[in-house]
Amino acid sequence: MPSSIAIGSGRAWRERLSSAGIDALYLHVPFCARKCAYCDFASWATTRGDVLPRRYAEALERQVEQVSHLGLLDGCETAYVGGGTPTLLGEALGGLVRCVMECAPGIRELTCEANPDSLSDNVLREVAAAGCTRLSIGVQSLCDSELGELDRLHDAERARERVAAAVGGGLDVSCDLMCAIPLQTSDSWQATLEGVASLGVGHVSVYPLQIEDGTALAQKVGDEQPSWNSSDTQAARMEQAQSVLEDCGYRRYEVASYARLPEKECSHNKMYWTGRPYLGLGTGAASMLTAEGYKRLLEACPQLGPLPEGMTRARLRVVSGRDQIAANGRLSSLTFEEEFLTERQAAAEDLMLGARLACGLDAGLVAYTHDLLGESVDKTLNRLVREGFLSDALTPTQRGWLLGNELYGELWDLAGDTETLTRRSA
Ligand code: SF4
Repeated sequence: MPSSIAIGSGRAWRERLSSAGIDALYLHVPFCARKCAYCDFASWATTRGDVLPRRYAEALERQVEQVSHLGLLDGCETAYVGGGTPTLLGEALGGLVRCVMECAPGIRELTCEANPDSLSDNVLREVAAAGCTRLSIGVQSLCDSELGELDRLHDAERARERVAAAVGGGLDVSCDLMCAIPLQTSDSWQATLEGVASLGVGHVSVYPLQIEDGTALAQKVGDEQPSWNSSDTQAARMEQAQSVLEDCGYRRYEVASYARLPEKECSHNKMYWTGRPYLGLGTGAASMLTAEGYKRLLEACPQLGPLPEGMTRARLRVVSGRDQIAANGRLSSLTFEEEFLTERQAAAEDLMLGARLACGLDAGLVAYTHDLLGESVDKTLNRLVREGFLSDALTPTQRGWLLGNELYGELWDLAGDTETLTRRSA
């Protein structure tokens, strides 16, 4: 164990495993006005006047009410309506937000994802009045030619204007930006970073573009990785983002996330990185439940089947399509992919996720994993410190940020048996 680590009690971390509720709720809205060139998310182009998005949103409301009746939302603190393009729902998005707030009154942060093209003044007013506290806006770039290459619907002027309107409307605003994209230069990236900072947003997320198989962009670039997306370019852009955003008053608190003040950090995403249970509804949405939470969900979803012997954590993904969900909003009609983790695998996963955070590995988590996994934890952490991935305080170093996949892989290997049990619900 690195000598500077004060070992905290692992009890609090262990108690998370017996929580019967969820701390965070995610709702997926899989509709977009058009498919972007690089997108492999669960999202489909829809046409104006299509009734499916509204029916789908109403079905999600019924599902939220159902999980609320199970008591699963009693301790829920955050919610995130993501997509896709939730703002494409128009006023129906306000109805969905209102339903979530009524079913989970303990929520202190509710984020809606938004795209500049569909973020009208009406939608802004409607979601704010319904209880939304935060908007995450898909700006991606403030350079028109780059936005064109990505097949985004908005231009830089529209993005600036809509972000300013959201900030002016009193909501917490985050901007998503993308680096290592076609036509991007160091100068244009600098202008994008400084441009969003000048709009007064409290939070910025920065991601290198991944060229995913099956997308229009992958078809266009072919087999060779283009120089604008090489691993060296990605690393250089991520380092530049850190330098520019820190100069503008932001602090990096996670590998891809920057906030001006600690209270502007995304509480919802932090749930994912700190082993807190969450429930995802909507096509493609993912959940992470404790054994007790899973058993409670089973009351409304008998198709899931009993929790397999010896499992501590359940990861679920809704595989029902958008038509199926819109046609029958009952939880019992959903099909899930299920993955089950032993306590050892769950502990390794928590270490892996915790290493994404600038504050590093929680002392309670380290103590808990030490009790559970023994000397192998000390050996791995010492090696990661020696190899320069982690500091003595078990926070990620610059090398740890840049070579995250190596770092996370080493921590996941602590699971011993990295093969997880999977099945599909009836
Ligand atoms: S707006 Fe987002 S989810 Fe929709 S197609 Fe573009 S990248 Fe995909």
